[in-house]
Amino acid sequence: MSDTIVIVGAGHAGGELASALRQGGHATRIVMIGEEAWLPYQRPPLSKAYLSSGGRVESLYLRPKTTFDAAAIEFIGGTRVEAIDRGAKTLLLGNGERLAYGRLALTTGTRVRRLTGTGAAEAERASNFHYLRTVDDVVRLRNQFVAGRRIAIVGGGYIGLEVAAAAVKCGLQVTVLEAAPRVLARVTAPEISAFYERVHREAGVDLRTGVELRGFEFSPTGDVVTAVLCRDGRTQQEQSVPVDLVVVGVGVVPNVELAAAAGLEIDNGIVVDETTRTADPDIVAAGDCTSHPNAIVGRRIRLESVPNAVEQARAAAATLCGRARPYRTVPWFWSDQYDMKLQMVGLSQGYDRLVLRGDPANRSFSAFYLHDGRVVAADCVGRPKEFMLSKRIVAARAQVSAETLADESCDLKTLVPPPEAAAA
Ligand code: FAD
Repeated sequence: MSDTIVIVGAGHAGGELASALRQGGHATRIVMIGEEAWLPYQRPPLSKAYLSSGGRVESLYLRPKTTFDAAAIEFIGGTRVEAIDRGAKTLLLGNGERLAYGRLALTTGTRVRRLTGTGAAEAERASNFHYLRTVDDVVRLRNQFVAGRRIAIVGGGYIGLEVAAAAVKCGLQVTVLEAAPRVLARVTAPEISAFYERVHREAGVDLRTGVELRGFEFSPTGDVVTAVLCRDGRTQQEQSVPVDLVVVGVGVVPNVELAAAAGLEIDNGIVVDETTRTADPDIVAAGDCTSHPNAIVGRRIRLESVPNAVEQARAAAATLCGRARPYRTVPWFWSDQYDMKLQMVGLSQGYDRLVLRGDPANRSFSAFYLHDGRVVAADCVGRPKEFMLSKRIVAARAQVSAETLADESCDLKTLVPPPEAAAA
């Protein structure tokens, strides 16, 4: 019987899991298999500094090849795992080979949500149409990131807005087309959306919300998108946005098909318990692809963030090393646009009151989301210290009055509950 641990998916979670296994004392064979050719790399710069400034792909690596080699972590890149035979405990690889495993870690992440409407399939074949998930996507996109060109970005979420900021920096003429009535509608309060809409417009972005995508126009040869067609939801006016390139950022979907075909439970992600175990005692899962219980939020969630991928991967490694511990962490995330860092903690859905601390006009403020008088989430713009304290306030779901939170003369430090209260 094999005692090999195989990790399927060599992204943030996969790379961290492999390293944490060795650090945790796991002595037998570790194999990490990735569909992409590259060693695990950081994705966040792909829509930020790496998009505007470039650099060697290796500069994005989580760890250099020498570190994985020194830890005797085998990497099979450019290879997809096609099937899991849980009975025989083998994997079928894209090249037709079979690989035996003793225990398995699924860190398959997410993939972009593709457009489905009129002309979408034809647009996907065009040379100037882009999605953004992998470093290969960015290499292709960056070749077309030339000052003066007109870029249309479909989607006003984090990725779309970050690409807009990078494009402005590179001198492109930027149009953002968002279907919802406001940008970042899924994740922030209207006040924060309004702030970012203003920032982007001040930077010269033609930002349109409430816009329905209707299709595309193509060059006579059909291989270049020349315009994006849409309709203004308010006026019902048809619009044609001439473009030199198009980037689509309309969300992601979890890569769960491999797990589903192997009979594992799926619920908007691979279902795991708080120690990252699936229903199969020999299979754990971590990162963007998992649906996991979160005691702080009080329900099952699936997160798309680096901190979750890294911390859940460490929990999975601990489980595989026989030291299972509950994965309990407050969700957090960040976004860089222009010279501003936004840091968010907690999940704001269902909040009943928003409290601003500081003035958005100064581009430095925090927004606290309250539910039943308790702080359930916070967005901090240009306030890293407040963010660190907010993490503890949100983790404790602290009860704080709106007036106190808004009062900048009141040190947030005094609002952080002592550890015993936080644990309660
Ligand atoms: P992934 O990084 O998606 O890695 C999964 C890997 O598994 C992929 O390489 C995939 O090809 C591979 N794979 C899938 N199926 C198979 C298979 N069957 N066989 C072999 N390999 C397989 N998060 C933040 O917290 N802050 C940010 O600012 C931020 N910015 C981002 C910007 C961009 C442009 C993108 C794309 C993401 C950003 N994220 C950000 C999200 C963050 O990158 C993800 O949450 C993180 O990468 C999740 O890691 P993961 O290992 O779970 O999945």
